[in-house]
Amino acid sequence: MKKILVVDDAKVVRMVVSQILKRNGYQVIGEAANGREAFEKYKALKPDAVTMDITMPEVDGIQGLKDIIAYDNQAKVIMISALDQRDALAEAIRHGAADYVVKPFEDDRMISALHEIFGDSTPVEH
Ligand SMILES: [Mg+2]
Repeated sequence: MKKILVVDDAKVVRMVVSQILKRNGYQVIGEAANGREAFEKYKALKPDAVTMDITMPEVDGIQGLKDIIAYDNQAKVIMISALDQRDALAEAIRHGAADYVVKPFEDDRMISALHEIFGDSTPVEH
């Protein structure tokens, strides 16, 4: 089972993302509330992928992404953004983000992004 680290400053969003992941056969190995925590947990837990919010206090998701990619250039990080964050998303993709999902969540979009980065072409079933 692929292990995912879920990063968002909003607890309710972490819950929603975690539920989507678990429903679709992924293991949520940990959660983090900002980019610094994300980097620390990435090193400690070695997840197969990360879902990374962009706007978070202290250390945002772009910096979290940069730190993770600098540490592991094979890291699979999916950015989670609000609709109006195109510039930040473009920066994230430039810095090695694997993909992005726009809030509010579309389950299918998140799961197909994960299938894609893991090279799994199995269609999403409900
Ligand atoms: Mg946020």
